[in-house]
Amino acid sequence: MVKFPEEYDAIIIGGAAASLTAAIYAARRAMKTLVIAKSIGGQAAMTDVIENYPGFMSVGGIPLMNKMLKQAMKAGAEVIYEEVNGIEEIPNANNGKPMFTVKTTSGNSYKTKSVVLSYGKTPRTLDVPGEGEFGAKGVSYCVTCDGPLFKGKKVAVVGGGNSALEGAEYLSKICPKVYLIHRRDQFRGFEYLIEEVKKRKNIEILYNTNVKEIKGENTVHSIVVQNVANNETKEIPVSGVFVEIGSVTKTEFIKQLVKLDQMGQVIASNNAETYYPDSDKIRPGLFAAGDITQTPFKQIVVSAGEGCKAALQAYNYLAGQQPTFVADWVAKKKK
Ligand code: NAP
Repeated sequence: MVKFPEEYDAIIIGGAAASLTAAIYAARRAMKTLVIAKSIGGQAAMTDVIENYPGFMSVGGIPLMNKMLKQAMKAGAEVIYEEVNGIEEIPNANNGKPMFTVKTTSGNSYKTKSVVLSYGKTPRTLDVPGEGEFGAKGVSYCVTCDGPLFKGKKVAVVGGGNSALEGAEYLSKICPKVYLIHRRDQFRGFEYLIEEVKKRKNIEILYNTNVKEIKGENTVHSIVVQNVANNETKEIPVSGVFVEIGSVTKTEFIKQLVKLDQMGQVIASNNAETYYPDSDKIRPGLFAAGDITQTPFKQIVVSAGEGCKAALQAYNYLAGQQPTFVADWVAKKKK
């Protein structure tokens, strides 16, 4: 078996399907593996019922992600809950190959021979006064995760896509009143969902309306909205605000390291390798998988597959091998 010196062989950034699958494969290759995640589950944890993950007729997003986490830890991966905000290269620190220092907002830094970037996408924020102040105190970015906490209360859902429509539809079953606030006069969701939402008597749709402020005292008490057509503003009493306005790729802190596309997504090879910025040269030691990449299919099974490729490619890179198929059970036998 290939012997790697001290420190981590792989640091995997992210806590959902791509990262946890990468962690399972890396740890089963006997690589010293650390997962750094803000939380577990990513976008999948925001999905109530998943019916297209092979092997499961129907499974909740959170239970599926928890199973992956358990499997990664059983394989030997370490997991810490911190937010990465910097990666620095130490050139030639590992027998001619680079090492990396991964830094977190907690002030910690971790050394590794390879990094898998697999932290997906982050919910887009409204950027209005009160949003930050009332985070987790009435402001939520996930109806599936937090919706049940608002049973019996008046709530607002912001957005005009399928997430907002689905969220409003779900909340209308447990809340007496749901305001669905969309900045335009047309939704961008499935027709059947739009029809369903329009049918619900306790959903009030406010078209052409922007949220200007979220107000409260300790928790959310109301929102101030403005109609874009006549500039009229009004204050609506609500206990919860669900911001369902899509997601963004937070790659600003890695743009000096790897090549990104115009949307800030990491450009990766078929083998999950990254490139130097403004170059077609492979960037040694940095790999990427899942929704953070350009992949057009933002699906859990795709992320899992890419996480697997990233870990095996990182192993091949550290072992000095060319991309090749290595049967998973080989590493297990040699442990
Ligand atoms: P999305 O489709 O990108 O829609 C985002 C919505 O938020 C749009 O209506 C957009 O308005 C609005 N928006 C964006 N920025 C805003 C801002 N700063 N202030 C106010 N409104 C803003 O995002 P999504 O609904 O989260 O869906 C993401 C993807 O997942 C989509 O492909 C969707 O179809 C998919 N999805 C599928 C299902 C399902 O299959 N059941 C469920 C949920 C999501 P505009 O319309 O004006 O741009």
